[in-house]
Amino acid sequence: MVPSTTPALITPGRQALDSALHQLDQAAGHLGLDDGLRTMLATPRRSLTVSVPVRREDGRLDVVQGFRVQHNVSRGPAKGGLRFHPGTDIHEVTALAMWMTWKCALVGIPYGGAKGGVAIDPAGLTTRELERMTRRYVNEILPLIGPEKDIPAPDVGTDEQTMAWVMDTYSVNAGYSVPGVVTGKPMTLGGSLGRNGATSRGVQIAALAALGRSPEGVTVAVQGFGKVGALAAQYLSDAGCKVVAVSDVTGAVHHAGGLDIARLRGHAAQAGGVAGFPQADALSHDDLLELDVDVLVPAALEGVITEANAPRIRARMIVEGANGPTTPEADEILAANGTLVVPDILANSGGVIVSYLEWVQNMQAYSWSSGEVELKLRDLMLGAFSEVTSLAAERGLTLRQAAHVIGVGRVAEAHQMRGLYP
Ligand code: NAD
Repeated sequence: MVPSTTPALITPGRQALDSALHQLDQAAGHLGLDDGLRTMLATPRRSLTVSVPVRREDGRLDVVQGFRVQHNVSRGPAKGGLRFHPGTDIHEVTALAMWMTWKCALVGIPYGGAKGGVAIDPAGLTTRELERMTRRYVNEILPLIGPEKDIPAPDVGTDEQTMAWVMDTYSVNAGYSVPGVVTGKPMTLGGSLGRNGATSRGVQIAALAALGRSPEGVTVAVQGFGKVGALAAQYLSDAGCKVVAVSDVTGAVHHAGGLDIARLRGHAAQAGGVAGFPQADALSHDDLLELDVDVLVPAALEGVITEANAPRIRARMIVEGANGPTTPEADEILAANGTLVVPDILANSGGVIVSYLEWVQNMQAYSWSSGEVELKLRDLMLGAFSEVTSLAAERGLTLRQAAHVIGVGRVAEAHQMRGLYP
C-alpha cells in the first residue's frame, strides 16, 4: 500500500497519485507484469516526512511539513525536483516521484525517480526566512540525498537560489564542495549552460515535432507563466507560433493577434504577474483552457484538465509542460474527441535531461558549450519522441499509454535483471 498521512481526505495530491497509479496499472497490464512486480512499481522505495521549524522575523516559530520520496532506484540514483507549495502533501510528492521514474527510463537516462516538497507558500516568507527554512529542510533529509543517491532540482516555488542553498548546506555538512548534489544551480556553482530554459526548450521541441508542419501562425495558449510556462511561450513565439493567451495565479490575458511575450515577461517581472498587461484583454482562468487554439500548454499544476472541462477543450493538441495536468477521465474524453496529448513524461523531459547533463559535467569537473548541451537535449528528446509515436501507431495506443509502456517496461526489466536481495 502507498503510505498515507491523511487517509480520509481526498486531496489534489491524492488525486494525482490515483492518476499515476491508474497509468501504471494500464501500462503493467499491457506489459503483462505479474502482481508482485506491479506492487513493487506502485510502491515508493523510501518516503520521508519531516517537520521543519521556521523561525519568523518577528520571533514566532512555525512548523511546516516537508517530504522526500524516492520512488525507484533500480536504474540509478533517484532524481527529482523540490516543490514549495502550500498544497503539497505526501501523495502529491509520491505521484511526482513515480512520474520521474518513468520519465528518466523513457528518455534513457540512468536515474530513478524522486521528488521533494515543503507545504509552504514561499511568497509569504522573507528571503531570510526562506533560506532558513530551506537549509533546515535539507538538514532533515540529509541522510537521503547525495550525488550518488538522490539529486534534487528546481520545481514549483523553487529556483536556482534554492538550489544554491541546498548545495551549500549539503557541502558544509560534507566538509567540501559537492556541486553534483543538486542540478539547476547557478552557473557560478557548477550549473550547466542551457539548464534554465531546458524544460521549456523541450516543450518547444515536443510541440514542433508533434505539429509536423511549419509553426508559422500556429495559435498557442499557455497556462502558468513561471519557469516553464514563460520560456515555453517565448520559445514557441520565437519559432513563429502566435501565443494568444497566457495565465498565472494573478490572472489570464488574451490578444487574438498574438502577445508580445518578451514584453509580457518584462511586465510580469515588474508587476508580479501577467494580470494588467496593457496590450491584452483579461480572460478567466477557465476560459484560457477552453480557447479555440492549435496548441494548449498546461504549465502550472496537476489535475487542471478533468472530466468536467475536457468536453469543452477545443485545442487540437495539448503539450504537457506541467506534470500530471490531465486526469485519466479527461484523457479518455480527449482521445475520443481526437485531441492529441503529448504527455508530461515526454513533453517536459527536457528539464531532467539537461539536469542529467549538468550532473555528468559536475562528476567530470568539466563543462560543455551551450551548443553541445542543446544538441544532446534534442537527440535524447527526439529519440524518445520517435519511439513513443512508433509504439503508439503500432499498438493503437495514445501517446501517454505508449510512453508509459516504454518507461514502465524499462524499469520492470531492470528489476527483473537485478533480482531480489536477499
Ligand atoms: P513555477 O513555480 O516557476 O511556476 C508555476 C506557474 O504556475 C506560476 O506562474 C504560477 O502563477 C502558475 N499557476 C499556479 N496555479 C495556477 C492556476 N491555477 N492557473 C494559472 N496559473 C497558475 O513552477 P515551474 O517550475 O514552472 O513548474 C510548472 C510545472 O512544470 C509543474 O507541474 C512542474 O512540476 C513542471 N515541471 C517543471 C520543471 C522545471 O524544470 N522547473 C521540469 C519538469 C516539469
